[in-house]
Amino acid sequence: MKLYNTLSRTKEEFRPMVEGKVKMYACGPTVYNYFHLGNARPFVTFDTLRRYFEYRGYDVTFVQNFTDIDDKMINRANEEGITVKELADRFIAEYYVDADGLNCKRPHIQPRATETIDAIIDMIKAMEANGYTYVIDGDGVYFDVSKKADYGKLSHYNLEDLQAGGGERKANYEGKKNPGDFAVWKFKKEGEPFWESPWGDGRPGWHIECSAMNKKFLGDTIDIHCGGKDLIFPHHENEIAQSEAANGCPFCNYWVHNAFVNVDGEKMSKSLGNFFTIRDITEHFPYAVIRFFILSGHYRKPINFSDKDLTASQTGLDRIVTCYKNLKFVLDNNGATADKGAGDDALTDAVKTARDSFIEHMDDDLNTADAITDIFNLVKAINTAVADKDTSAATLGTARSTLEELSDVLGIDINYSEDQVPAEIISLVEERTQAKKEKNYARADEIRDILKDKGYQVKDTPNGPQIEKI
Ligand SMILES: [Zn+2]
Repeated sequence: MKLYNTLSRTKEEFRPMVEGKVKMYACGPTVYNYFHLGNARPFVTFDTLRRYFEYRGYDVTFVQNFTDIDDKMINRANEEGITVKELADRFIAEYYVDADGLNCKRPHIQPRATETIDAIIDMIKAMEANGYTYVIDGDGVYFDVSKKADYGKLSHYNLEDLQAGGGERKANYEGKKNPGDFAVWKFKKEGEPFWESPWGDGRPGWHIECSAMNKKFLGDTIDIHCGGKDLIFPHHENEIAQSEAANGCPFCNYWVHNAFVNVDGEKMSKSLGNFFTIRDITEHFPYAVIRFFILSGHYRKPINFSDKDLTASQTGLDRIVTCYKNLKFVLDNNGATADKGAGDDALTDAVKTARDSFIEHMDDDLNTADAITDIFNLVKAINTAVADKDTSAATLGTARSTLEELSDVLGIDINYSEDQVPAEIISLVEERTQAKKEKNYARADEIRDILKDKGYQVKDTPNGPQIEKI
């Protein structure tokens, strides 16, 4: 398989360190809010990369972290009058609602920063022992980027660029040896959560948590590090600097970055309002459509987000789903011939071509856009066979399993139905059940009305509430 490596800026043949095994890491969410479409793109993209490696027989270990301590977490928790831990617990649960909805397989390990403090402190100690850190009194422990001769090798920035960077940075580097130096440990401020360390009470910087988690769960060198393009600098550059300073060996062999989601601002604000979090989008489109939309473009190209683009994705996905339904109906109701018919050869060819081409496209830097076209070509051939009624059950069965197989590699849910109930409705129904349990009938009735406004009704049955579209 070829992957575009940001480090070399070329498409390279992927060669794992150990034959048949892949160690991969992706930067996960900061859990202070629901995640938005821009966050969802890497989750879906790198879940697909992991699925594809597994499809090709690799033994994958995939780690994705939760950033559960930083300024945003602290500010939001203060605003809401809850602890940072309560905020994290809440939005990690909400993360799973959306990530599961988007059919992202759960990463093998999902560490929280606050549960990795020992590893973080060990790593800072190693960097200190190797002469890479210094302390700014009352501020924190800093990484000295001038000590790392190849600092900038990922982002292709150099120290002069940083020196000349001015603006925000310049105002911000009092006490630092170089403008690009960054905190690996921040000393505690009043009212903030803190941990003890050899340098003083405080909390980890953002970059160090990923370096420490990589080392703890995957080792000193990993195969693939993934993330959004916006993380290349400074986050990933700093991860490299820290890990290599502490471990004394190369950190990561392949750096894979996805491009942004663009929003048609004018259209968005006019017609759809605040339409950016995944949870918001599910009020208009099912999760399966959002995933399909994300994979419809190549991950290194920007995708445009608009109502029109999502509607087009829904139409595309529905074509596959309808084909699959019709094919299943024919097979389940003896609608196929027992013996080889006139349509067998063409469908057998189409199945082979679709799979070969799908693999070729996915091998070419995870080209999901063209891989989806391969699925459409298979759909076309299946539709012809189903309409002509002259293809054997055996061949139609092979076509069905191939359609299931290829869709599953992309995590496309071909059993999804338009009647799928959005997550927001499910959580409202759960809240109503809870309210009834607590004999808060006023709230239960209120939720019933909200559901009605959104086009749903709930029937209480002995097996629990049943949700129906009105
Ligand atoms: Zn990270």
